[in-house]
Amino acid sequence: QKALITGVTSYIGAHIAQQLLEKGWYVRGTVRAQAKAQWLHDTFKAGDRFETVEVKDIQKKESFAEAVKGVDYVFHVASPFFFGFKDPYEDLLHPAINGTVSLLSAVHEHGQGVKRVVVTSSFAAMMQPHPEDPNYLYTEADWNDSAIQSVEKEGKDVNGGTAYLASKNEAERSAWKFVEQNKPKFELSVINPVYVFGPAIHYVAKAEELNTSVAFVYSYVSGSKAKLEPRSPFSNFVDVRDVAQAHIQAALLPEAAGERFITSAGGFNDNAVASIIKKHFPQYADKLPKEGWNEKDLDPKSEADNSKSRKILGINYISLEKSIVDTIESVKQFI
Ligand code: NDP
Repeated sequence: QKALITGVTSYIGAHIAQQLLEKGWYVRGTVRAQAKAQWLHDTFKAGDRFETVEVKDIQKKESFAEAVKGVDYVFHVASPFFFGFKDPYEDLLHPAINGTVSLLSAVHEHGQGVKRVVVTSSFAAMMQPHPEDPNYLYTEADWNDSAIQSVEKEGKDVNGGTAYLASKNEAERSAWKFVEQNKPKFELSVINPVYVFGPAIHYVAKAEELNTSVAFVYSYVSGSKAKLEPRSPFSNFVDVRDVAQAHIQAALLPEAAGERFITSAGGFNDNAVASIIKKHFPQYADKLPKEGWNEKDLDPKSEADNSKSRKILGINYISLEKSIVDTIESVKQFI
C-alpha cells in the first residue's frame, strides 16, 4: 500500500507516516523545508519506503499533480495552525480552504488509484458556543459556522483563535462540498481532533518553533505561565498517536467512508496537567506555576463525545498522564 501525506513534516503528519511505515507501507510526503524532510529520513530510516517531494504552494492544484500519482490513500494534514497572523485570510483561511480544494482537485484529476482521502479537520470545526446549555455535548452533527461571520465582521482585528476556527470549519465544509459537487471516484473521511498532546517526533530547531499544541504543554515548564487557572471551556485533549491511528483506521474501514470523527480522550485543566508534571518530573517542580494549585480539581468533564470514534475506529484512548509524560520527555532538550 502507498500513501501520500501532505505536511508530513508536521507534528501530526510525522506520526501518521511513522505508523504507516511500521505497518510496512510506502509513504510519500509533501514538504516545504528540506531540513525538516531530512530529519524525518534520518528518524525513520525506511530506505525507499519513505520519500519526500517538495510542494511549496499548496493553494495551486498543479502543485499536487505529480504527488498524487501512484498512491492508494491520501492524508491531507497540511494547514496553518497558529494564532498570530497579520491577515486572517492570507495567513489562515486561504491556505486552509484552497489547500484542501486544490489537493482534492488534483486527486480527482490525476490520482486514479486513490481509494480514499482522509482530511485532518479539527474540533474547531464543531465548537460553536452554546451559552444556553453549559452541559452541551458536541457530536459529529455539530458545525462551527459562526466563526467565519466574526472574521467577516471584524477583519484583521478578529481574535486569532476565532480566525483559526473559521479556517478549519470552512476548509472542512469545502471538502464535503467538493465531493458532493464532483462525485469523485475516491471516498472522503474526516478526523476532528481536539487539542493534541503527546511526543513530538518532527523537526523542531528551537522552543519557539514548537507546534502550537506541544508549545501549550511546554508552557507549563517554560516559565511563561504565572498561575494555574480554572478550566477554560473546550479544554479537551487527545494523544497524537491516537490521532494518527484514527486517520489510518478512517482510511481503511469501509464504515468510515463519508464520515467525520471527533477524536478526544477527555477534558483537562491546568491543575491536572501541572500535577502530572510535578509527580513524574520532580526536577522541573520549581519551573511550574506557583499559584492556583487545587488538588480536588483533577478530572474535568469534556464537551466532546468520542463514542463514534471508539465504536467505529476502535480507538482505545491514551490517558492524560501518559500523554503529558511523553510530551515533556520529547521537549526535555528545551527545558
Ligand atoms: P504543525 O504546525 O506541526 O503542522 C502544520 C502543517 O501544515 C505543517 O506541515 C506545515 O508545513 C503545513 N502548513 C502550514 N501552513 C502552510 C501553508 N501556508 N502552506 C503549506 N503548508 C502549510 O501542527 P499540527 O501537526 O498540529 O497540525 C497538523 C494538522 O492538524 C493541521 O491541519 C491542524 O489544523 C490539525 N489539528 C491540529 C491539532 C493540534 O492540537 N495539534 C488539533 C486539531 C487539528 P511545514 O511543516 O513546512 O511547516
